[in-house]
Amino acid sequence: MSLTPVIVIALDGVPFSLLRYYFERGKMSCIKQLADRGAFKEIVSVQPPLSAPAWASFLTGVAPHEHGILSFTERDARSLNWYTPNAAHLRQPTLLQKLSDKGRRVFSMNIPVTYPPVEINGISICGFLGPDLERGVYPTSEISFLKNKAYRIDSDVNLAKTDMAAFLEDLHVVLDRRVDTARYYALRERWDLFMVHIMETDRLHHFTFESFHRGDPDMLHFYDALYGKIDRFVGWMIDHHPPDSRFVLLSDHGFTVLKREIYLNHWLWQQGYLRFTHPSPANLHHIHPDSRAYSLYPGRIFINLRGREKNGRVTLEAYDSLRRELTERLLALRDPIDGAPVIKRVLRGEDVYAPHIPAKAHNPHYVSYPDLLALPYNGYDLKGVLWYRELSAKTVYTGMHSFDDAFLISNDKSLAERSTSITDVGREVAALFA
Ligand SMILES: [Zn+2]
Repeated sequence: MSLTPVIVIALDGVPFSLLRYYFERGKMSCIKQLADRGAFKEIVSVQPPLSAPAWASFLTGVAPHEHGILSFTERDARSLNWYTPNAAHLRQPTLLQKLSDKGRRVFSMNIPVTYPPVEINGISICGFLGPDLERGVYPTSEISFLKNKAYRIDSDVNLAKTDMAAFLEDLHVVLDRRVDTARYYALRERWDLFMVHIMETDRLHHFTFESFHRGDPDMLHFYDALYGKIDRFVGWMIDHHPPDSRFVLLSDHGFTVLKREIYLNHWLWQQGYLRFTHPSPANLHHIHPDSRAYSLYPGRIFINLRGREKNGRVTLEAYDSLRRELTERLLALRDPIDGAPVIKRVLRGEDVYAPHIPAKAHNPHYVSYPDLLALPYNGYDLKGVLWYRELSAKTVYTGMHSFDDAFLISNDKSLAERSTSITDVGREVAALFA
């Protein structure tokens, strides 16, 4: 049983390889010291590597098919309406709930999938996908303090599309306020579990990863400044906690340079699998009933199965041969600009989301997960927009998530040894309080 504090610092989308790059250059010395005293290793995310299912796996210690958050956009097959899954959809208790039940004091700031907040023995401040502080904080008595601190859940990513300098400045503003507020709460009382999540790293990488990798001097300088600030925060946390405190630093996925976006619904339309009832299709209601498949982000393909989908037309008899045909064609999909292969693997939904169900018992009529999951080569982002005029595009985004190259640093060597994925880390943090 852990009696010493456990401190989790979650750095969204920070690659193992990026930290190693900094360590080799003698930078990030506070985080490096922690790594030197314990372990620094590469871990993997969940499939597909999205922040919502990955942090939900951290919070619950189980895989997405067990906790129920598979992505950040889902569709209801009967109505074809979209919705954003949140903590209310979790089928397993979180670390916050489990520790609260044991009478432990917990603090959670900005961890994704903590909205809507639940009653816990401590404080929970929601992360991205939470609408605002009024609805995202437990207990509500903390809201006025957070507002006085001008605390913000997230940076303004829309700025990145219009004014990059203002966006970069905004990242610092949001990070400063987050760090400032976290320090206040860290000192306010002695917590058994203190967790803070930093989103600014992921936001930065999405819009700048290419220029950073190209060695653009301004961008290298910006990364140094932002990462340096995070390192000093970690150093402060180490200095202000008992020496036997356990520290767990981790990311939810890696990052890689985005070569090109691929619009899978355009491809399905091109190949004759998807038709629309509307000249500029904007939602799933604009899918023609004759369609045989459609896609949601990232690389998730749903068969328009009769009896399951609102306007389903594909019969159960045709289901598996259609999946095989789509798989073969997807693997043959080439980058329209340079001819490179785009799709590395295509997995059947049941292999990803229902590995415990024997193949014979699998019934596609009753599943909510995708029928196929296409996994791209690094560099290709499989977009889920219903309609885009081209198969591929280069946009303002220059970085994308990767399944591998996430990191774990902990001064608890045995916790690190038992963890190879973000899911494992969540399970092991909970086990410290078992
Ligand atoms: Zn991201």
